[in-house]
Amino acid sequence: SAKRKGKNRFELYNQLEHGSDAVDLALENDLHKAMERGEFSLHYQPLLHLRTNQIIGVEALIRWNHPKRGFISPATFIPLAEETGLIVAISQWVMEAACHQLKELQRYYPKMKMNINLSTSCFLQHELIDNLERVISCTNIDPRYLEIELTESTLMPNAAFAIERLVQIKKRQIKIAIDDFGTGFSSLSYLHRFPIDTLKIDKSFIRHLSSYRGEAAIVKAIIDMGRSLNVTVVAEGVETEKQYKFLKDYGCDCVQGYYISKPLPFDELLPFLHEWKAE
Ligand code: C2E
Ligand code: MG
Ligand code: MG
Ligand code: MG
Repeated sequence: SAKRKGKNRFELYNQLEHGSDAVDLALENDLHKAMERGEFSLHYQPLLHLRTNQIIGVEALIRWNHPKRGFISPATFIPLAEETGLIVAISQWVMEAACHQLKELQRYYPKMKMNINLSTSCFLQHELIDNLERVISCTNIDPRYLEIELTESTLMPNAAFAIERLVQIKKRQIKIAIDDFGTGFSSLSYLHRFPIDTLKIDKSFIRHLSSYRGEAAIVKAIIDMGRSLNVTVVAEGVETEKQYKFLKDYGCDCVQGYYISKPLPFDELLPFLHEWKAE
């Protein structure tokens, strides 16, 4: 949103004032070259279906291995990529790489799903549907196993446009999740109008699940709402057995978090899945 962009910009100015401009401009410069240097990779975090105890999908999470600074978090460079417009090329790469690796995964696990995060500018991009179709046909994946994750802040500012776009995506049989749900103050009266498949409860609500009753009430309310809207509810950031048990007992559909697995590089994902299945 404009507000968020404004905030990012403010932070950038703030850093300029504090004399770290060279560093940030260097980072932006490096971001331009990162693609051709092959510095991006994807890690995959498993999603566990609680009732069947099966891993039913993975979320692709981008990593930037900077030659001098090491791994830089997407929370740092995605906003920068958004501001500079590089996000479009990066997203294209993410989609291609993730779909390619989904095809590979499905040789062993034919029903495995892939979740991909999409930033606001990519969601609004005119070419989005064409790009999705092209990637799907090039990699020859079944679009029903693909789920796009969008945040409330992407969908809400122009809900009418968003609904139209979501309908176009759904026509291609691609699934849709609302990510970080509960943090965007979305108008609940709009929620049922969005053709969504999944709600992902933000990890900030899961963190205090066992210590604060308010958090537990919110999580329960989201699970109940998901049930009545007939959408899948996923809890993010599940780190402890207590959190896991609470969610399982209350009937949350899926969990994702360090308690199950950290995001894994592709070559560690298959061994993890094999081991999980064997146990
Ligand atoms: P997200 O989509 O909400 O992803 C979940 C984040 O929570 C990931 O951070 C993940 O590593 C982290 N996480 C997973 N389990 C746990 C846990 O048990 N505890 C805690 N404390 N954290 C956990 P990550 O990988 O740093 O990504 C941050 C955000 O960057 C993502 O949030 C997503 O919004 C964005 N992002 C990541 N990859 C992409 C991408 O390919 N494209 C776009 N547009 N955004 C991306
Ligand atoms: Mg996500
Ligand atoms: Mg999230
Ligand atoms: Mg997020």
